[in-house]
Order: sequence, then structure tokens, then C-alpha cells
Amino acid sequence: MRVLMVAPPGAGKGTQGALIAAHFGIPHIATGELLRDHVARRTALGLAVQEYLDRGELVPDQVVLDMVREAVVAARAAGGGYVLDGVPRNMRQARALYLIAVELGMTADVALHLDAGDAEVTRRLLARAALEHRSDDTAEVIAQRLALYHEVTAPILSWYRDRGILVSVDAMRPVRQVSSEILGALTRLLPFLDREPGRAGDPAELTALGEAFGATDAAAGTRG
Ligand code: AMP
Repeated sequence: MRVLMVAPPGAGKGTQGALIAAHFGIPHIATGELLRDHVARRTALGLAVQEYLDRGELVPDQVVLDMVREAVVAARAAGGGYVLDGVPRNMRQARALYLIAVELGMTADVALHLDAGDAEVTRRLLARAALEHRSDDTAEVIAQRLALYHEVTAPILSWYRDRGILVSVDAMRPVRQVSSEILGALTRLLPFLDREPGRAGDPAELTALGEAFGATDAAAGTRG
């Protein structure tokens, strides 16, 4: 199972990504987490990206793409599945990621869109701020991250819709409801992802995907 997630900050990417990864026994590759880990360890990369994270801006594409390539190579060695969380964030990353995935025989089966409105995700992020003290969970930086999401990340959804792999889920509900819908739908999809031995890299035939997810495609637009 190879899933990539597209969602505004605060929609639950980290939580749902971890649950999907645990359920299917696949690596959870979260670019924000990887970057924050570099910052915490004060590596050269961490020092170079810290300001971007603090300001709620995207770090340069190539930095993320190099990191993701390495993680996808490791995921391939670990069995071939993954949950990508936090990437791609813009159209250039989406195209570059696709080329990397084709080269490695690791193209995504599903682009999972967690759909949630700005007011709700802002409320959640401010609540998280009180607990986790992330440098980018202030009201001002949250607004910046949301603006960036609408401007450069949300437009990539139509690209996945055109490829026939977009699945949109209403993420405004409690975590358990959202996760049971996601896990149930991904599980129903598994039989369609069976690949012939030796052809693990082929994109799966996913014409039944909309059906497996109860034709959620129509709900694929972002909420304002
Ligand atoms: P996240 O944990 O996904 O909310 O990401 C936190 C921060 O890490 C973002 O605000 C960006 O500064 C940076 N970041 C994470 N993923 C990416 C990415 N794919 N491209 C550029 N910057 C990223």
C-alpha cells in the first residue's frame, strides 16, 4: 500500500499517517517530522532550514526531495509500502516526486486528501500549541501556513484527481471516525493493488477506487 497525504496543517496528517502506517505495517515518512528532527539535533541541514519552519514557509524543494528520495529507497527495501505525510507541498514537488517514484518503481496508489476548513484547523493547531510548543503553532504563523496551503498545495489535488488516484475524506470529524473510514476504505482497496510478481512498480489499475471509497471524489474540493 502506497499512500501520499495532502491536507492543510492541523487536519490530522500526522495522526492518520501514523495509524495507516501501523495498520498496514509500512513506513510513515513525515517530512515535517524529519525536518524538525534535524533542527532539534542541530545538524547542518537543521540549521539551514530552521528559519523556514519558524516562519511557516516551505523549505527549498530540493532539500525535501533529497530527503524523501532517501526515505523512499529505504521503504522499497523494507517491503515497498509507504505513507508520505507532508510531501508534495507544491506542483513542482508533485512532478519531481512522481519521477522519483517511477524511477524507483514506487508510484503512489492513493492520494489521500484530508478535507478540513480553516476555522477548525486553526482551532486544533492553537490547542496543540498549548501542549507541544511547536515554533510554528502561533496564530500568525498558522495563518501563513494556511495561506500557503491554499495557494500552492491545494492546486495539486486536481492533478491527482486527473490521475484517478485522489480520495477525499471529511477530516472535520473525530479522529476515530476519520481513521475508521480511511482504514476501511484502504483495506477494501487492497485486492485491487495486487501486482504481478516482478512488476511491483506498475501503477495499479484503480478504476474501482472511487467505488471502494463510496464515490467521495465529488467532495474533493478544499473548504475555505
Ligand atoms: P508539517 O509538519 O507537515 O506541518 O511541516 C512543518 C514545516 O516543515 C512546514 O511549515 C515547512 O516549513 C516544512 N516542510 C514540511 N514538509 C515540507 C515540504 N514537502 N516542502 C517544503 N517544506 C516542508
